[in-house]
Amino acid sequence: MSVQHQVSDELLLDYASGSLAEGWSIAVATHLALCPQSRARLARIEAAGGTMLEMVDVDEKQDMDTAWQSMRARLDASVATMTAPKPSKPKAAPTPVVPEPLRSYLGRDADQLQWKPLGRGAYHIPIKISDGETSVRLLRIPAGKPVPEHSHGGRELTLVLKGSFHDGHARFARGDLEEADETLQHQPIADKHEDCICLAVTDAPLRFKSRFLRLVQPILGI
Ligand code: ZN
Repeated sequence: MSVQHQVSDELLLDYASGSLAEGWSIAVATHLALCPQSRARLARIEAAGGTMLEMVDVDEKQDMDTAWQSMRARLDASVATMTAPKPSKPKAAPTPVVPEPLRSYLGRDADQLQWKPLGRGAYHIPIKISDGETSVRLLRIPAGKPVPEHSHGGRELTLVLKGSFHDGHARFARGDLEEADETLQHQPIADKHEDCICLAVTDAPLRFKSRFLRLVQPILGI
């Protein structure tokens, strides 16, 4: 099944321009590894960027309408010639839960990791990042169980790697990327058939509704 929740245009543009901090970039790049549609969109953005640079060289006084039309034409042509990705051949080795580039940060696949308990059957693995901006972790939510209801002090990206969850608004499965900000309050609940493993990137502590969780939050480091 194809990925239902793709990276937003805004985030993809920031990724393409190299302006994202390392933590966000890991989430976007790992989503791209799992989503051919998003990779095709990135290729279009990069082609459009190249075209714009060429136009600056050709004639700075060129009428903007003409310039825009010429860029659209090139963009449409590049999309028309783009072929559908071929289905990958079955491989001898099983598909890893954690693809690159995230895999390199962890050094191994999900079933060989040293998970740390978060309470109520949930586990996490903090991932060391040097951008000084984001907090990155792998989360394992037990099948059928919720992440406590919370809102966000900043941006939160959640990329599903295994299993699925429903956050009260939509369902997210492998490859899906959820983008949340201060305006969203949600309670992701893992679907019943298996534990849900996801990558979570934040730039501010989550705001839990539960007073108890707010108290233990600094101890857990979430
Ligand atoms: Zn959240």
